[in-house]
Amino acid sequence: MPERLDEVHHIGIAVTNLEDAKTIYCDILGLECIEEKTLPERSVKVAFLETGNTRIELIEGIGEESPVTKFIDRHGPGVHHLCFEVSDISRVLAELAASGVRLIDETPRPGAEGKLVAFLHPKSTTGVLIELSEK
Ligand code: ZN
Repeated sequence: MPERLDEVHHIGIAVTNLEDAKTIYCDILGLECIEEKTLPERSVKVAFLETGNTRIELIEGIGEESPVTKFIDRHGPGVHHLCFEVSDISRVLAELAASGVRLIDETPRPGAEGKLVAFLHPKSTTGVLIELSEK
């Protein structure tokens, strides 16, 4: 098997209201919120919650045109993407493209945590949006 994806780094969850979602995940379920930020260039507000080696990323769309708002319009709130760590994101993207995987990002870009990220198209990955994040 080719060495491409490492462990799951986080699970993204689309929410309609970040504060309400934090009440559920932090105050009731007891996860710790370790970082929160607004990314106007991506039209989202995010909160990262820690749970062992994996994190939960709560994502609220800003405005009607936000991809997360559109996702919720189509599917309702819920699991939005899985993020896997990779050691060399450019190599993995090139290999996946060569294998016929449809890429949303042809080249990596800075993600919510400042690391290089890229998304794979869910049509190529059994309906699941997959994010790659360079270690
Ligand atoms: Zn993510």
